[in-house]
Amino acid sequence: MRSVTKRPGDSAAARAPAGTIGAHLARCGVPRRDFLVFCAKLMVAAPFGLALTDRARAADVAREVAKARRLPVIWLHFQDCTGCTETLLRTSSPDLAELILHLISLDYHETLMAAAGKSAEAALHTSMRENAGNYVLVVEGSIPRKDDGIYMKLAGKPAVAVLEEVAAQAAAVIGIGSCAAWGGIPSADPDPTGAVGVDAIVKGKPIVNIPGCPPNPYTLLGTVLQYARDGTLPELDDQRRPKFAYDRDIHEHCPRRAHCDAGRFARQFGDEGHRQGWCLYQLGCKGPDTHAGCSTRHFNEVVDAWPIGIGAPCIGCTEKKLAFRVPMFQVIPIHDVTPPDAYAPIHPPQDPLSIPAALVAGGVAGALLGAGYVASRKFSTVRNDDSVPGDRPSAEAGAGGNGSKEEGDERP
Ligand code: SF4
Repeated sequence: MRSVTKRPGDSAAARAPAGTIGAHLARCGVPRRDFLVFCAKLMVAAPFGLALTDRARAADVAREVAKARRLPVIWLHFQDCTGCTETLLRTSSPDLAELILHLISLDYHETLMAAAGKSAEAALHTSMRENAGNYVLVVEGSIPRKDDGIYMKLAGKPAVAVLEEVAAQAAAVIGIGSCAAWGGIPSADPDPTGAVGVDAIVKGKPIVNIPGCPPNPYTLLGTVLQYARDGTLPELDDQRRPKFAYDRDIHEHCPRRAHCDAGRFARQFGDEGHRQGWCLYQLGCKGPDTHAGCSTRHFNEVVDAWPIGIGAPCIGCTEKKLAFRVPMFQVIPIHDVTPPDAYAPIHPPQDPLSIPAALVAGGVAGALLGAGYVASRKFSTVRNDDSVPGDRPSAEAGAGGNGSKEEGDERP
């Protein structure tokens, strides 16, 4: 943990009522700058569709977040690789792993908590008892249902029973990652454990799915903070995914899209097209059918740190019908995308100049040249200016014209 400078009173957070995020931030001396940076990133991650970030400035978002109560969160792990937790911990500037502990009250998280065994169980049940009906349950990993759920047990109980028990008193349940959303990798054929997602087991509770392998951590935080602020969840699609994060497909905003439209494809890994950064569709990219914000919100705060950014085709990890079901390199049909013809061409066609147009252009050019000559004659203040054609008087003009010299006239 970094040391922080306590600066009470330097923000609205210091005046926030007890029990709110603002009061907690002030008490812990979290620098306002870190908090503002976090709020700015939240605005970028959720520019539309999240009531919390529907503000003009990061300072306005910070004021709203500071007013939210510090929500108790219980985080359960089932059949998972812990990648969703890892992506949450790998963000920096500000250190989200540190900041998240200020924004929420993470009462139980098997990977992060120091307690183990009976003391960990005690922490879980204490939080459930003290916050009954008020805590948010976050689930990471799929739940094995086959053979009465014997393939995973926690404290001697099948995972499915643990989930039912903890979800029963939760205010809302969030399935983070593709495994918790619908089964993910453990549910891939032949699915030996009968892996399912949260909403196959929990009924009668508000459920949000945040699929991805892993998902963007700001999607989780935006959802949790909005719920903490006003008790509402963001608008969801038909798969319970927050629309603010899953309302567009990868293909629409992919940096390789122009290559796709121009017919430039990598055809095998390492070929010229692949090295040139061309479209990965022929290598099995599922971007045209995958709803997620990865193409505009990269991971670990490293530019281009996302599959297509490093030359790997999108596997469609946010789509139940694609990820871990359709082979990774299998080409899928393209449908339902903006047709390439709808975009302005990169090189607009140039018609050869027609004869009438050439005549008109020639006339205009001639007129301009003539006007320039007249102007140069009229406005030249230097006599005998060699740069003005015809300015030097001819011999005839000096002999027979009005060749009279004016004062100061040094003409011969
Ligand atoms: Fe990008 Fe994949 Fe679409 Fe190609 S097919 S433009 S790599 S999303």
